[in-house]
Amino acid sequence: MSKMSLPSASQQSVPAILVLGSLNMDMVVRVSRAPGDGETIEGQSIAYFPGGKGGNQAVGCARQGASVCMIGRVGADAHGAALRAALAQEGIGCDDIPTDDAVATGVAVVMVDDQAQNRIVVVPGANGTLHPDPSVLASRLKASDWLVMQLEVPLPAVLMAAEQAQKSGCRVVLNPSPSQSLPAEVWPWIDTLVLNESEAQALTQVSVSRPEEAAQAGQWFLFRGVRQVVVTLGAQGAVAVDAKGGSFHPALPVKAVDTTAAGDTFLGALVVTLASGGTLNEGVTMGLRAASLCVQTVGAQPSIPTRAAVLRTPQ
Ligand code: ADP
Repeated sequence: MSKMSLPSASQQSVPAILVLGSLNMDMVVRVSRAPGDGETIEGQSIAYFPGGKGGNQAVGCARQGASVCMIGRVGADAHGAALRAALAQEGIGCDDIPTDDAVATGVAVVMVDDQAQNRIVVVPGANGTLHPDPSVLASRLKASDWLVMQLEVPLPAVLMAAEQAQKSGCRVVLNPSPSQSLPAEVWPWIDTLVLNESEAQALTQVSVSRPEEAAQAGQWFLFRGVRQVVVTLGAQGAVAVDAKGGSFHPALPVKAVDTTAAGDTFLGALVVTLASGGTLNEGVTMGLRAASLCVQTVGAQPSIPTRAAVLRTPQ
C-alpha cells in the first residue's frame, strides 16, 4: 500500500465537518454468563461510556484534527448532560444539540460475558425525535465541507440533510447503519458510502463476506449513483470501490479485545483524510490504522485514537 503524508495544518486549512446523528450513553455490564428467562444473576461490573454512532463519528473526526459540529438531540437528564460535556471536551460544537423534555437520552445497554459475547439493547429516546430546523441546517451546511450521517436518527432528517448538502456543495458521507431500506433517490446525493459486510448484504440482497463480493456490492451502489464506496470486512480489512475500480486493503494484524466503535473510528479517519485532500486509498489506509488501535481498547469513545497515535502505527 502507498505511503501518504497529509498536508500539515499550517499548509492547509482544517476541514470543517458536520455530523448529524445519534447520541447514546452506553451502559456496559460485565457478566460471567447471560441470565436465562426469568433468572437473576449477579453482574461483575458496570461502566458508562459516551457512545451512539453519531457521537462516535464526531469524536472520530475531531481526534483526527477536523473542526467538527454536531446536530443531535438528548433528553433532560444526567446522561444528556454527560454526552454533551464529552463532545465539548473534544472541541466539538454542541449548539445544535437541543434537549427534549419529553423523552430520555438514548441508551445502549450492553451485556458482555466471559466469552466476550455481546447482547445489546438500544433505546433511541431523544434520537428518535431529531427533526432539524431546515434553516439551521442550511446555515450549518454552508459552513461545512463534509456532512457525516448514519441511520440511528429518523430517516426524514437524514434525507433532508443529504439533499440540502448536495445543493450547497457539501460532500455527503453516509454510514447506512443500522441497515434499513432506502429510497432510490438518495444514492446520487452520496459522495462516500461506508458500510460493513452485513449492511452491504442487507442493501444489495447479495451475500457479502469475501473481498470480491464486497467489490461487487460496491459496484451495485456505484451503478445507482454513489461516487465512492468502502465496505469494511471486520478482521479481514476493507474494500474501496470507485469509478477507477476496486482495491482490497487487509486489516492490521492485532489482538482485538473490543470492536465497539471500530467502524466509527475507521470512518472518522477516512473522512478527515479525504477532506484534507487525500485519495480514497489513502483514506482507507488511515481508517485501517485507526481502527486497529480502537479494537485493542475497551469502550466506544474512549477507544477512538488521536491522529498522533494513528501516525505511530505501522503503514
Ligand atoms: P463495524 O464496526 O461497523 O461492524 P467492522 O467490523 O467491519 O465494522 O470493522 C471496521 C474496521 O475495524 C475493519 O475494517 C478493520 O479495519 C477494523 N477491525 C475490526 N475488527 C478487527 C480485528 N479483529 N482486527 C483488526 N482490525 C479490526
